[in-house]
Amino acid sequence: MAERIEELEPPALWRYFAEISKIPRCSKREGAAIDWLERVGREKGCATRRDPAGNLVIAVPATPGHEDAPTVVLQGHADMVCEKNADVAHDFSRDPIRPRIEGEWVKATGTTLGADNAIGVCAALAFLDTPEAVHGPLEILVTVDEETGLTGATNIAPGFITGKLLINLDSEEIGVFTVGCAGGRDSTITLRAPRETAAGLKTFRLSVSGLMGGHSGTDIHENRGNSIRILALLLQAALEEAGAADLRLGAFTGGSKRNAIPRESRAVVAVPPGGAAALRGAVERIGAQARAELSGIEGDWTIALEPLPGEGEPLASAADSRRLILLLNALPNGVQSMSVELRTLVETSNNVGVVEDAGDAWRVVCASRSSLAPAMESLIQRIRATARLAGAEVTHGDGYPGWTPDLRSPLLARAQEVYRRLYGRDPEVRAIHAGLECGLFTEKYPDLDLLSYGPDIKGAHSPDERVRIVTVEKMWEFTRALIEDLARARA
Ligand SMILES: [Zn+2]
Repeated sequence: MAERIEELEPPALWRYFAEISKIPRCSKREGAAIDWLERVGREKGCATRRDPAGNLVIAVPATPGHEDAPTVVLQGHADMVCEKNADVAHDFSRDPIRPRIEGEWVKATGTTLGADNAIGVCAALAFLDTPEAVHGPLEILVTVDEETGLTGATNIAPGFITGKLLINLDSEEIGVFTVGCAGGRDSTITLRAPRETAAGLKTFRLSVSGLMGGHSGTDIHENRGNSIRILALLLQAALEEAGAADLRLGAFTGGSKRNAIPRESRAVVAVPPGGAAALRGAVERIGAQARAELSGIEGDWTIALEPLPGEGEPLASAADSRRLILLLNALPNGVQSMSVELRTLVETSNNVGVVEDAGDAWRVVCASRSSLAPAMESLIQRIRATARLAGAEVTHGDGYPGWTPDLRSPLLARAQEVYRRLYGRDPEVRAIHAGLECGLFTEKYPDLDLLSYGPDIKGAHSPDERVRIVTVEKMWEFTRALIEDLARARA
């Protein structure tokens, strides 16, 4: 058994991986890695070019006799997430990653490994060292800053790649072809609500905490509790039981990131002394209902209603308070629609992710996702309509495009055929409800036919990141066969 990663199969790929692991390449600071990649390409006699965004192309000439084959773009990203365990002394701006073999895996030593996405990049480089591989013209496209904003893919120059077929090597499960991803767009709703202190009211803090949370895209189909929505639901029942004229909100905050399902939320609530029992009753009744709805999904989570001492809390008017409560209940939240072509794919969703308190206004931030552009547009319109009904202002971010699955893609058909020929069974075909660089490529290059796959990578973005050795060899073997198939199809 191999002791050093350079001895693993295929050696060309792993030798490059050992080399790139020595080069610091945290997102936005991957310049040295791009320089190194450019040098490698030139030493092998390939033309290279960069665009203003910092992306790199290494143009690999076809093997003799396959010059007329379609150009294939092999794509990965140069940057990595830099995370380490607290007890590890490691300076990501200087120190090399130290990959090591641990059973069937390659892992780093107390840090992220950067297999995401250096394995993909090195698989493309391995063609430079494999003269016996048969291929048409290749463009190895290496993007920058995938992990902290997709800015390399967003700003890729028009005309920078010439191939019409693109294989993205940044997926993380062997035997799965990814054929689509979601676009995203944020909305910020501002509800003006000046505050004043008021006498003669009973004041409480109502909070929801201990929910699971999760990624607002890839976990949204789990129907986990959203702390902002639960809080709003409790308050709406209280409005109806205690009387809308008599309930006033103070500070209201919930969630921390727009793209995370909010786990905790809290609000200051004031009612006349006679309304306290109705508030308690509503919280108990609706709380039990929410618990029943989330049983089997959430574990231990808490609703707390605690009296606050004194009367010093700044409060919004009853009318503004009611507008916020109704707004938060009416906004679309969670899964909005499933894909018809890929039945298990969430097509469109919204996450009411954050409520911030600005002192004289509440700001509600939503993260919307869809793999279908028109569906995103109508969701955004619904959010606007809801905000307007509540008398709030709404603005939207620019967003980024999705990649709509095309099950009739010729590249997918070739890849499925090659997979069947090699392994005697069908690959799994999937799309994801989160962003990928592929969506951004299709915006600049609408004629591009794309496919994404990769080896088994677990624990990505954490010091537990590891790549399953045997699946790296399998990915390489498959890529080589697919590239050869595409070269022969036209030669
Ligand atoms: Zn990646």
